[in-house]
Amino acid sequence: MDLSFDPDSLSLPVGHFIGEHFSAADGVIPMHRPSDGKAYAGCPVADANLVDQAVQTAKTALKKSNWGGIRPRERLNVLHRWADLIEQEAAMLAKLEAIASTRPVGQLVEGDIAISAEQIRFFAEFADKEGSDLVPTDDGNFGMIMTEPYGVVGAITPWNFPINMAAWKLGPALAAGNAVVLKPSEMTPFSTIYLAQLAVRAGLPAGLINVVLGDGATTGNAITGHPEIAKISFTGSTRAGSAIMENIARTGIKPMTLELGGKSPQIVFADADLDKAAAAVAASILGNAGQACVAGSRLIVERKIAAQLIDAIKNRMEGVIPRPTWEAASRYSPIISEKQRQRIDAIISATVAAGGKCLAGGACMDAPGYFYAPTLIAEVDQDSPAIIEEIFGPVLTIQTFEDEEEALQLADHPSYGLAAGLFTRDLSRAIRLTRRLEAGTVWVNRYSRSRDHILPTGGYKQSGIGKDLGREAFQANRKSKSVLISL
Ligand code: NAD
Repeated sequence: MDLSFDPDSLSLPVGHFIGEHFSAADGVIPMHRPSDGKAYAGCPVADANLVDQAVQTAKTALKKSNWGGIRPRERLNVLHRWADLIEQEAAMLAKLEAIASTRPVGQLVEGDIAISAEQIRFFAEFADKEGSDLVPTDDGNFGMIMTEPYGVVGAITPWNFPINMAAWKLGPALAAGNAVVLKPSEMTPFSTIYLAQLAVRAGLPAGLINVVLGDGATTGNAITGHPEIAKISFTGSTRAGSAIMENIARTGIKPMTLELGGKSPQIVFADADLDKAAAAVAASILGNAGQACVAGSRLIVERKIAAQLIDAIKNRMEGVIPRPTWEAASRYSPIISEKQRQRIDAIISATVAAGGKCLAGGACMDAPGYFYAPTLIAEVDQDSPAIIEEIFGPVLTIQTFEDEEEALQLADHPSYGLAAGLFTRDLSRAIRLTRRLEAGTVWVNRYSRSRDHILPTGGYKQSGIGKDLGREAFQANRKSKSVLISL
């Protein structure tokens, strides 16, 4: 299947999707295509009234459909039909994603979209398998931990993997019996609207997914502060996560899941399979041009193999070709915006000014759009900007160590703890270090998640609160009630 398409002839759903109605709205936030910089659309901004309309629609739909109370197997069946339809409509979804985001169309169909459909099926399976638990009570009577859906869940997603992030939120919330009001990023809203429309086509009662477009300050705030939204599920930056906590504290307490930023180390020992390590390290910083929360952006390598490993990584970086995301051959992603590209460049300049040595890249690529060259920076201190800041670009810092203690000291970040990679053939060392690493995910001799949906993802430290994926994500969408019955 040739997935290449002409971005100028694609018709875009510019508006909100509430109930079963898509309503076109004026796009006020200018949107530029990351692949060529062309201004091509505008994103509308839902105000508090429109968010309230979406919440009331969700409440009515929950009541009318009895979504939280029907046989769980019925929920499961609808979600399976939705996943099937997502696969059938993958080409259209991929176009709507590739035009606005940094995801290459060729990687979307077999990657993000196929994985999202699988994850929706994965969560659907919990619908009739996770439930209430009977427990013995102290006096020998009857105790039960009963679980129930929250009602209306508010979800907010980032731009870096738009369809996949929407699936992470919608799959568990719906399987657990909730309705959702979802706000995608104002930079990448179109695929999420289409995803919601497909759900209704698959038989999901209208009103259980509502998509409102807008920015964080207006639409995001209206969601997190809405008194009838019972739970918030957020993925985005630590800065926005902190603003959301503040708003929730101000407007009424509610549970929240926060999946936030990272600055993940990859520690390579001299006894590792160096070819495999180089491939994994390079892939993790080149994938989506480093615009991934778990990007392995800090290489920490044993001194005696540093030169060899750096050469191998550099070779892989030199082969990237900037092509628009709507060309099937595209593999290397542009940066999401010119503003973000300038920010990356500024962090590199500040790092070099502070003594860092740029071994590769360190500049915008000579191509249309917002491509940035894969960059390697060595000789960086623990407090240098490239070590401290989540750059969210194709920038790998290099630090070297003599022994395990030094490796662990370098790996420790003052605020982030999302993921870490370890490369060694020594299993005892791998387990010893895994126990001491402050990270929500540790990869050993690999650095990718693939289709391991059962393993939850989430951060230590300021990388987040709670988990996405895994059983935990389903459970986080239900509240528990303790019931004690005297026999
Ligand atoms: P962002 O925080 O700028 O925006 C994320 C979403 O939050 C957007 O929809 C935005 O409109 C909204 N938002 C912003 N401020 C808000 C506020 N005050 N109230 C409510 N909503 C608000 O992040 P981004 O630039 O879109 O995404 C990149 C960030 O996301 C990175 O920090 C990355 O690490 C993180 N991320 C984390 C994970 C994870 O699983 N931990 C996954 C993907 C991305």
